Amino acid sequence: MNVRFNIPFKHEDALKNIAHSIAIGKTSGNHEFSKACHHYFNQQLQTKSLLTTSCTDALEMIAILANIKPGDEVIMPSYTFVSTANPFLLRGATLRFVDSNDDHPNMDEQLITPLINERTKAIVVVHYGGVACAMDAIMAIADKHDLLVIEDAAQCLGASYREKPLGSIGHAGAFSFHESKNISCGEGGLLAVNHKPWQERAEVLWEKGTNRAAFWRGEIDKYGWVDVGSSFLMSDILAGYLLSQLDHLTEIQTNRLRTWQYYYDQLQNLSKKYNLALPNIPLGSAHNGHIFYVIAEDERQRNDLMQHLKQAGIESYFHYQSLHNSQYFKGKHDGRALPNAERYTDCLLRLPLHYYLTQTQQDYVIEQICTFYA
Ligand SMILES: *Cc1c(COP(=O)(O)O)cnc(C)c1O
Repeated sequence: MNVRFNIPFKHEDALKNIAHSIAIGKTSGNHEFSKACHHYFNQQLQTKSLLTTSCTDALEMIAILANIKPGDEVIMPSYTFVSTANPFLLRGATLRFVDSNDDHPNMDEQLITPLINERTKAIVVVHYGGVACAMDAIMAIADKHDLLVIEDAAQCLGASYREKPLGSIGHAGAFSFHESKNISCGEGGLLAVNHKPWQERAEVLWEKGTNRAAFWRGEIDKYGWVDVGSSFLMSDILAGYLLSQLDHLTEIQTNRLRTWQYYYDQLQNLSKKYNLALPNIPLGSAHNGHIFYVIAEDERQRNDLMQHLKQAGIESYFHYQSLHNSQYFKGKHDGRALPNAERYTDCLLRLPLHYYLTQTQQDYVIEQICTFYA
């Protein structure tokens, strides 16, 4: 049996929407499909929402909104994707990496305060697998030291912390609609601006530094260059694709959560017997079934398990190479040991999880993991 790690959700409405965009000749950004998506996200997140070409770009917009300058320090986890870091580096920031929790890949909030000094500007949180960081504690630290809180919510659509949608808690959040996420449009993202004083400027940065969006709304009689910016808009062709997925979001999330829970329940016994750690969902976090992972005892066991699954036709993947240890950053890191991040790099393995995974396939994956340990 072959079991794919991920198969993106597809629906025939995607083609219908794309054809419509082309037929009416409205294929650039901010036309009817973009507006429908914005409407949905504005309601859902209660923020100013703007579709972008990627989550990476949304984070680049946030780095500009936050006015990050050379000399500023930005605190973020090491166990994350490069896109959490690059937007801040591009603006000249110094990065201070934080270790992960003992029992979860998310950053350990207790390690943040010792890193804060007069140059510290922002804390960037990453909610791994749509599981919330300890946002109450993090917001309190940020408040106390007058810092910005930025959420890399790439994996978080539909997930929440104490009833609040992830990505809408800090000053701004960034979501991804890359092929690998719960819903996708190929490449795409969303900027969610919670901090009111940034909302108007976000729209200007988005439209190449012009006030064109205000012009289209009829608020001004001509538009021009008013600030820096870039071309961060998503094409309406892709927004139509995205809308066809948004229309089925509830069904997709229910399906993924069911699959996630089934792994969790079925692997309990094995987990206790062989010291194979399963995901830990902290109190207050409602996740979205984005990732199911196991944590092996060491790197060798993880790699052997991955190899065993591969031979059985099952795709499974490890995840991030800790950024503080990367080829690019190694020489720039301040030298602190980040043992938990390294443990997740070495020992974490992600199992197949997608809308099209059948019960039979899932039983087979579980059976093969059991066979490996037995
Ligand atoms: C997927 C992902 C990104 C990048 O998203 P893009 O839309 O590909 O730019 C950034 N951060 C995290 C945590 C991700 O999982």
